[in-house]
Amino acid sequence: MNARADEQQKRKLLPAICSGDVVTALAVTEPSGGSDAAHVKLAAHRDGDGYILEGEKSGVSFASWADTALVLARTGTYEQGARGVTAFYVDLHSPGVGRSRLRDLGTRAIGRGQIFFDGVKLPADARIGAEGAGFVQVMQGFDFSRSLIGLMCIAVAQQSVDETCNYVAERDVFGGKLARFEGISFPLAEAAVKLRAARLLCYEALSLKDRGEPHGWVAAGAKWWAPELAAQVLHQCLLLHGHVGYTMDLPHQQRMRDVIGLEIGDGTAQIMKLLVAREIIGNVARGY
Ligand SMILES: Cc1cc2nc3c(=O)[nH]c(=O)nc-3n(C[C@H](O)[C@H](O)[C@H](O)COP(=O)(O)OP(=O)(O)OC[C@H]3O[C@@H](n4cnc5c(N)ncnc54)[C@H](O)[C@@H]3O)c2cc1C
Repeated sequence: MNARADEQQKRKLLPAICSGDVVTALAVTEPSGGSDAAHVKLAAHRDGDGYILEGEKSGVSFASWADTALVLARTGTYEQGARGVTAFYVDLHSPGVGRSRLRDLGTRAIGRGQIFFDGVKLPADARIGAEGAGFVQVMQGFDFSRSLIGLMCIAVAQQSVDETCNYVAERDVFGGKLARFEGISFPLAEAAVKLRAARLLCYEALSLKDRGEPHGWVAAGAKWWAPELAAQVLHQCLLLHGHVGYTMDLPHQQRMRDVIGLEIGDGTAQIMKLLVAREIIGNVARGY
């Protein structure tokens, strides 16, 4: 929103978002599908100077308690595809907004849910950017957030690797420390090296972005690989703790549940690989 809102909107909206006084959700996914994100059905009809929203978003982080949301809505025809999609900044305390919460496996502090828009009236200045520009704006934001999601996943996996290294160096089995068996130390060595490589891939995407160079497919690669790797590493750390690793008392299970969510949110592995393939092969590898 920072890049696309006009100066007046930035002055009005950003301070409260940045201070945390206002929690904002990003509402893209709909019940009919999230991977095909351009297939937006939620409609924004013109109403005088403003708009009226009709439709539903699903699977949205913060949905049950956010104050506001950046909502992608269709202002054009379906034939226009992504070019008929516009972004709106919506007060979720407005009349006509309803919400429900999903019972998720992880990331419960944030939570996800549906948001229903039943004739929600928006003023003209709720529109962020030009009509029809919303999809591209949000996708460009994803090129940034995907590297950050990768780093979040790597951070929790690294924490579990550190804790597991300490554990296997302390635990006694068969008359010595657990860590002396290569079946124990090699998975940790592999995890340390792979996490480091995945972290560098995220940094590369961010560095390319900083330099204003194309970075979409590198960020997509980071978003595919880092969460998948983190989930595998966390699973391994859980197992290396034996039966106590399987209890809710140790944090590996929670980290694993959280990271699985990030394998899906912001685009699944398949969609990320489609983006990479399209870049390295060309549009013939589009897939959708
Ligand atoms: C933790 C979490 C947080 C989320 N936060 C938000 C949020 O804040 N805002 C928001 O709008 N949404 C959010 N989502 C929703 C998320 O973006 C979607 O779930 C995701 O894009 C996938 O869409 P879908 O669930 O509809 O699955 P679908 O699109 O129905 O896909 C189902 C399966 O098919 C695969 N698939 C789909 N198309 C293809 C293809 N062309 N080729 C190969 N495989 C394909 C997918 O990879 C997936 O495995 C979140 C989801 C999670 C889990």
